[in-house]
Amino acid sequence: MKLPSFEFLRARSLAEAWALHSDAGGDAVYLSGGHSVVPSMALRLQAPSRLIDISQIAELHGVELQGETLRIGAMTRHAEVLANPLIARHAPLLSRAAPHVAHPAIRNRGTIGGNLALADPASEFPAAVLAMRAELEVMGPEGRRMIAADDFFLDLYETALIPGEVLTAIHVPLPPEGRVFGFDEIARRRGDYAMVGVAAQADMSDGVVSDASVTLFSVGVTPMRAAAAQDALEGAPLSTDSIARAQAALATDLDPPDDPGFPAERRLQLARVLLGRVLTRMEAVQ
Ligand SMILES: Cc1cc2nc3c(=O)[nH]c(=O)nc-3n(C[C@H](O)[C@H](O)[C@H](O)COP(=O)(O)OP(=O)(O)OC[C@H]3O[C@@H](n4cnc5c(N)ncnc54)[C@H](O)[C@@H]3O)c2cc1C
Repeated sequence: MKLPSFEFLRARSLAEAWALHSDAGGDAVYLSGGHSVVPSMALRLQAPSRLIDISQIAELHGVELQGETLRIGAMTRHAEVLANPLIARHAPLLSRAAPHVAHPAIRNRGTIGGNLALADPASEFPAAVLAMRAELEVMGPEGRRMIAADDFFLDLYETALIPGEVLTAIHVPLPPEGRVFGFDEIARRRGDYAMVGVAAQADMSDGVVSDASVTLFSVGVTPMRAAAAQDALEGAPLSTDSIARAQAALATDLDPPDDPGFPAERRLQLARVLLGRVLTRMEAVQ
């Protein structure tokens, strides 16, 4: 289907992006990879009069160590998330999530910033940044804000971004020695959005878990932190018993949607099975 008509403008700086957004009086959207904006316009789900290309803005580019965090620019494309050695070493849940995101053609254009700003509840990266306790750097005319991933995803396709603000980067705290990670999803076909997904990390000290962080996606309107499952893992070895306790705790953590084609109880059961699989295979970065 042809797109509705629109004005296309390219911003060369953040200040220019904010000004172009403000001039349009709320009838503008930012464009990064375009792999969600353009299909949604073709499907007439939205028809903004102005698209503002932010892909050339310097602050949105690059992957670099900054003190105790890895800063990943919002324009980092999914394919680079998959291939970047700094991300593989310091933000391994993103590297492990990336092969599950769509197909190579989409991964070559889609960006991590666009993906997080869209906040699709079935998307892999939001759950990964939540599990890694990352912070999101956003910049607007009022200045720069750092938002904890736990406070960023507010509702279905709704984030803490204020209209006009740009998500500029993701800051991932560097993992300590001994941290183990796991990620997996169940999808109907490779590359499809997940029916259920899990991202997890935990610190191991003398064989005992501390600071477990477990998140799920495609189980509600946002990526979800499984707090009761985390508590069930704390202070014990990762064993059949502790994993079974975490699986049982998901009944407290989750209240999945009850879809006639995919009943809530079935989704909860898939989540339990997948959590068991992920926790059994947790491993450190090689
Ligand atoms: C066939 C198909 C299959 C897909 N499968 C998956 C999948 O399995 N898993 C998955 O996670 N995704 C999937 N996607 C979505 C894909 O990953 C998108 O590219 C991604 O979600 C959006 O990134 P983008 O850079 O293309 O964003 P865009 O489409 O450019 O923008 C998306 C939204 O975010 C806003 N935005 C973009 N960048 C910023 C920014 N820096 N700051 C503030 N707002 C911003 C835009 O205004 C827009 O509202 C699929 C897409 C397609 C077409």
